[in-house]
Amino acid sequence: MKNKEIILKGIPASPGIVSGKAFLFGREQYTIPRRAIRDDQIQNEIKRFKDALIQTKNEILEIKKRISEEMGVEQAQIFSAHLLVIDDSMLIEEVISKLKKEKLSIEYVFQDVLKRYIKVFSDMDDEYLKERISDINDVGRRILRNLIGAKEDILSNLKEKVMVVAYDLSPSDTATMHKKNVKGFATDIGGRTSHTAIMAKSLEIPAVVGLETLTKKVETGDTIIIDGTHGTVVINPSPKTLKKYEIDRERLEAFEKHLLELKNLPCVTLDGRKIELSANIEVPEDVPSVIAHGAEGIGLYRTEYFYMNRKDLPTEDEQYKAYSTVAKKVKPNPVIIRTLDLGGDKFLSQLDVPQQMNPFLGWRAIRFCLARPDIFKTQLRAILRSSIHGKLKMMYPMISGLDELRQANAILEEAKKELKKESIQFNEDMEVGAMIEVPSAALTSDILAKEVAFFSIGTNDLIQYSLAVDRVNEKIAYLYEPAHPAVLRLIKTIIENGHNAGIWIGMCGEMAGDIVMTIILLGLGLDEFSTSPIATPEIKRIIRSVTMAQAKEIAQEAINLPTGKEIEKFARKKIKEIVPDLAIEVE
Ligand code: PEP
Ligand code: MG
Repeated sequence: MKNKEIILKGIPASPGIVSGKAFLFGREQYTIPRRAIRDDQIQNEIKRFKDALIQTKNEILEIKKRISEEMGVEQAQIFSAHLLVIDDSMLIEEVISKLKKEKLSIEYVFQDVLKRYIKVFSDMDDEYLKERISDINDVGRRILRNLIGAKEDILSNLKEKVMVVAYDLSPSDTATMHKKNVKGFATDIGGRTSHTAIMAKSLEIPAVVGLETLTKKVETGDTIIIDGTHGTVVINPSPKTLKKYEIDRERLEAFEKHLLELKNLPCVTLDGRKIELSANIEVPEDVPSVIAHGAEGIGLYRTEYFYMNRKDLPTEDEQYKAYSTVAKKVKPNPVIIRTLDLGGDKFLSQLDVPQQMNPFLGWRAIRFCLARPDIFKTQLRAILRSSIHGKLKMMYPMISGLDELRQANAILEEAKKELKKESIQFNEDMEVGAMIEVPSAALTSDILAKEVAFFSIGTNDLIQYSLAVDRVNEKIAYLYEPAHPAVLRLIKTIIENGHNAGIWIGMCGEMAGDIVMTIILLGLGLDEFSTSPIATPEIKRIIRSVTMAQAKEIAQEAINLPTGKEIEKFARKKIKEIVPDLAIEVE
């Protein structure tokens, strides 16, 4: 069905929300025929090759100059790598000697050598060298284009504003884009720290990468929404979805306006109750955004990304370097490292995890770590070693009961003992907490609270497990209700049990950044909110607009309502009364 709304989740590469007509940008594949040449044509083919190299070099110098003027010298460095490819004498000599030997057209020979180069680089283990493949590809295509006299890529000559959709975009494709004609872009492949993503951020073009199957689902002319802030693309959005994103876009713009004013203000209620406001990160590169949005610490550092997109496992030293860098950057504010949460919808190619019937209910997170103490202990040692560099804390994901918590702590003790024996320093008093994201943990939180320093409520999982709604299945997404009374009751229980045992309670699931729920959570007694960096300013604004007495009253009234829909409607009404200029819909 062509006009059905499709939502795809990818990797947020550059923030902002835009909608418009898709433009499918296909990388033209040049078809080079195998054509034999005579001896007396060899010199001419060499000349053609050298001319194409000069022409390509001039083009790249031109782009480099423009990017350097428009975006700064640093961004232009990508093209220095391209120039190195052109000046690679080994490549040039190999092409010329192959031309003389095989007596085939220069285009054909060049393409052949290029393919071999790419193969050699792809087989290498070195990540840096692997990244060079895109440079070689990019330059190689330019040289080929000049050899066969094809026209310049179309992205620089677009006649109207479009949303570019492509399997991949090279840095030079991205560089030829102009804000005036490209509203946003989305690609099947690519990572958050790829050159293309970095360029998109500098150009301030909203972008989502790593969407895997996008180009198979979109046609030129389809309406699409690119949400580069959350990493989502919607194809053929319904009028309702378009409206929702329009509200999100307004909210985003409002964030930006309030950002500077709010950044240095404390996160306190009107009657002076201090609330910890933190942000969630996936990679150390996210830290500047946390600081820019005024979050005070990191409430969830998801460490899975360390283990993804690679063939080997991260070493203790490698992890130590990343964790201590983050700890130092965020110091004196806290950083909570969440130990490996593999499984569910996060798979690691290098670990031989068998396919499971119910991956979210299966061999996941702490269950996996307890079964693989070798992998777990390496991470624990790295966290412990980093603990002297800042206010580091750690927590275990998916704890379902006391046995699991004790087993995890026993491995932590082993790691501590080893480090002591090796005379390696660590902070003996580092706080260790548990994520509460399984209903059994929520219901026994009074027991668990006695053996941890804090709880962090993982609502993304807590909601899916308590309502029996797979968090990644879009067919039942309508049942995924954060405001469901069952969810609120569990949260209330967790907070009360935690406070009775004298520990603090945070929340790091998406619900912590849901402005509809902020006042209720505050009224239930939550001590810390950890949200995506972009959500922190508005959460701070709401917290600064209420008193604790007001919040408690609202929470009490909400929790007594019988359905999630009624609770949500009530919460929306209340929040609109308290912060009227919030971009929020009230029926
Ligand atoms: C959660 O479940 O709420 C959470 C924060 O963890 P993740 O989303 O990584 O499962
Ligand atoms: Mg979780």
